[in-house]
Amino acid sequence: MTQYVIIGDGISGSSAAETLREKDPDAQITVITDEGEPLYNRILIKEHAKGKLPEAPISIHDEGWYEERDIDLSLNTHVTSVDTDAKVVHTHDSGDLEYDKLLVATGGTPTQLPVDNSDADGIHHFWTFEDARGIREHAEQSDTGVIVGAGLLGIDFAAVCGAQGIEANYLMRGDRWWRYALSADGAEIMHEGMRDVGVEPVFDSGVDHFETDDDGHVTAAVDPNDERYECDFAGVAIGLSFNTEFLRGAGLEEENGLIVDEFMQTNVDDVYAAGDLTRFYDVLLGEQAQNGSWGSAKEQGRIAAVNMAADDEAEQFEWVSSYSITHFDFPFLSFGHPTLGDDYAERKYSDTEWRRIAFKDGKIVGGVLIGDLSPQTAFKQLMREQRVVADQKEVLLEPSVDLDELAPTQEQ
Ligand SMILES: Cc1cc2nc3c(=O)[nH]c(=O)nc-3n(C[C@H](O)[C@H](O)[C@H](O)COP(=O)(O)OP(=O)(O)OC[C@H]3O[C@@H](n4cnc5c(N)ncnc54)[C@H](O)[C@@H]3O)c2cc1C
Repeated sequence: MTQYVIIGDGISGSSAAETLREKDPDAQITVITDEGEPLYNRILIKEHAKGKLPEAPISIHDEGWYEERDIDLSLNTHVTSVDTDAKVVHTHDSGDLEYDKLLVATGGTPTQLPVDNSDADGIHHFWTFEDARGIREHAEQSDTGVIVGAGLLGIDFAAVCGAQGIEANYLMRGDRWWRYALSADGAEIMHEGMRDVGVEPVFDSGVDHFETDDDGHVTAAVDPNDERYECDFAGVAIGLSFNTEFLRGAGLEEENGLIVDEFMQTNVDDVYAAGDLTRFYDVLLGEQAQNGSWGSAKEQGRIAAVNMAADDEAEQFEWVSSYSITHFDFPFLSFGHPTLGDDYAERKYSDTEWRRIAFKDGKIVGGVLIGDLSPQTAFKQLMREQRVVADQKEVLLEPSVDLDELAPTQEQ
């Protein structure tokens, strides 16, 4: 009987457990998590923090879900190290666990700002349901806010401030939000969305240090230009540090993420990895890539499990990810790898409609859509087909994209 151990009960670990049980009905499966609750919808915790959603719908699995599938779930259990020679997982205070095959699905932890007072009361990071409960409670009592981190997670803090009536300044480095993926035209639509909910974007800024009162509660953020922004609430979302400290000495190749191939296999036999913390071989891109999104993590967990249960490499990870934002009056969608292009096409259609497509070697590798998300199906199809289309930007920028208008594919 094969013994599978999965570290992490986020969407990647949980989807792996489900798939392993389907593929290997007799196996022993253990899922270990240092959180105190089974899988919940991490995407929806922001709605809870905004005050818009009660707790119940956010939970995905209760403990009965694991019992029904004869999966051992170990809550509140922190893995401290892994011995990949002896094939043993060591935990903080729940003993050791032997494995035949191991899945590392431990995701990341928000990075703290390396500035004075960055751990003061009232400064929040956002990753767990517990974080969301704390943010909601504090946001309900707060009047002024500061947000740092001009990316996809930072904007959730802006939405929380907006929904909770906090007057906030969003301090950004550079001249716009998510400057790696958006041009000035696209970003300006997002800035207007922020202003509409009461959040003011501040450019060429950031945080030099936080100020606190005598009780250690944040009172202001001071930016590198010496501008002072009062706040009793602050949200910091400047990136993730991957949870891999417990793998030190285990021989796993790591380079800003755990390196896996397209089968989610690491360089160490019988050790697989899935989810946010992987740097995987992207078969569509033809190189190593990373992705921090729910759908991608779920599929990586499934693919890892299929390959763990098979005797050989059974199925490869081939996926076009998407990440949407629904905080404003207009929808927003990022797909694929919008920052990895060597060529771009973009157009603004109205004050709330904009599109940008990223190409690499003539093929679409990602993009961002604001206002009208309907072309996503066509763009994702072209990505999967790996068609060379960069020479037909006019067709791709038509308000309504008709793939029949593209010239037939040329033989390469
Ligand atoms: C506020 C917020 C909003 C988001 N919005 C979106 C969105 O709109 N769309 C989208 O696609 N994605 C969104 N994401 C990202 C998405 O949630 C993640 O990409 C996805 O949840 C990653 O899943 P994962 O399984 O790789 O990791 P995680 O969900 O991080 O799970 C890893 C688990 O491992 C546990 N763990 C870590 N170390 C150890 C250890 N040593 N021992 C035991 N357990 C350990 C962690 O506590 C955690 O429970 C959002 C994320 C956040 C935080």
